Amino acid sequence: MNPYASLQMLRNELDSRALSSVELTQMYLTRINKLDAEFNCFITLAEEKAMFQAEQADAQIAAGQGGALTGIPMAHKDIFLTQGIRTSCASRMLDKFIAPYDSTVAKKLNHAGMVCLGKTNMDEFAMGSSNENSYYGSTKNPWNTEHVPGGSSGGSAAAVAAALVPVTTGTDTGGSIRQPAAFCGVSGIKPTYGRVSRYGMIAFASSLDQGGVLAHSTADMALMLSAMGGFDAQDSTSADQSMEDILALTRDSEGFALSGKKITIGLPKEYLQNLTNAELEAVYQNVQSVFSGQGIEFRDVSLPHTHVAVPTYYVLASAEASTNLSRYDGVRYGHRCESPKNLEDLYVRSRSEGFGEEVKRRILTGTYTLSVGYYDAYYVQAQKVRRLIANDFTKVFSEVDLLMTPTTPSPAFKIGQLSKDPVEMYHQDVFTIPASLAGLPSMSIPCGMQEGLPLGLQLIAPHFKEALLLKIGNLFQQHTDWHTQYPETGQNL
Ligand code: GLN
Repeated sequence: MNPYASLQMLRNELDSRALSSVELTQMYLTRINKLDAEFNCFITLAEEKAMFQAEQADAQIAAGQGGALTGIPMAHKDIFLTQGIRTSCASRMLDKFIAPYDSTVAKKLNHAGMVCLGKTNMDEFAMGSSNENSYYGSTKNPWNTEHVPGGSSGGSAAAVAAALVPVTTGTDTGGSIRQPAAFCGVSGIKPTYGRVSRYGMIAFASSLDQGGVLAHSTADMALMLSAMGGFDAQDSTSADQSMEDILALTRDSEGFALSGKKITIGLPKEYLQNLTNAELEAVYQNVQSVFSGQGIEFRDVSLPHTHVAVPTYYVLASAEASTNLSRYDGVRYGHRCESPKNLEDLYVRSRSEGFGEEVKRRILTGTYTLSVGYYDAYYVQAQKVRRLIANDFTKVFSEVDLLMTPTTPSPAFKIGQLSKDPVEMYHQDVFTIPASLAGLPSMSIPCGMQEGLPLGLQLIAPHFKEALLLKIGNLFQQHTDWHTQYPETGQNL
């Protein structure tokens, strides 16, 4: 069986009994055991539980009770709580933490009959753009192991790129699904804020965090999203919005057809001004001609507050992180220092030992901007700028249906290249952060190569228009083959 097969192909194999879920699960576990020493995509493997789930899925299929995802292997970013399986968030703080319950996303995918192979590597508490901030060591990019896979969902993106698993979950606060998807040559979608439940998803910046998918294609992402999304009373910011548009994509082959309406894509000029990469610009021109050939029109638009998005994000995300991470106090759960002298010592040493450098940096800057003397100057100011950024998008979406930009300013950088300069690392998110601040759905799909490394195309849509994003992405994937190109490593297994 081709490990790069689409979810639909895997479904056909399972339904025709050419392959059982147990065999499929074994096939991917074998690939992980042979290849992952090199890539370090997984923090925890759940082999026994996976085999049990696969047996159950086979029984369901045999009884004619299977659904679209029954028996298909997947893996969760190690930020989603998975009952009985360690959930570390790539932090020493949670190195021994076994989740007592399932996140809503894990519960829904279990319910859909999927087989969870394990938990993927990430930047600690999802803070980072390179996967270098993991307590368990960096993940390597399968296209070139000297390069980063991106982050924070780097393990999830690299695992799909190396076909260690057909599909994974990820989370995106400022680009953590889209940027690693771009760097690893896979597709990744961050839905509208509130579309996928945050219940049981370890919190980084609660007003921005959103769960999503990394996969080989828009068709695979639609299937996953249809099972993961929807209202959840256990998440106070969950959106009570119909999933009908997304479900319609998965029902039949006509699901992705565009209605007769003319589609106009906006090209934000501020994003292109930032582009110093001539090759990337050429790739981007190519993409435009593919779309133009399909009758799509383009219009230049302006998002004037783009240049303040990165600083705004790092004030707000760090402020929320400092609040969210105060729960790790060495008392209730997580790392506790040896023989504390008193309560103060317990707090200080447990947190100093449990958190890595980048997490501490965010807690420090976040606490600073929330402190009495600086709150108005930083936190309140950043909230106001966030509104201006969101208003820019509202305005352009009255003129165009979607926006298109590169996902990242360059292909994957080298491991160690930016890790000494946090501010330069933060600027890697320049194209992904604005949509996060506005809560908009956004997606990255492979659109070219530069020096043997993949490049990503970012599409951004109005709130709850994931179906439109996926349709336009699908149109692109039907006329190009970037999404079916794979790294050489592990192809012959
Ligand atoms: N790279 C960004 C950060 O470090 C985004 C991370 C994310 O989306 N989780 O905050």
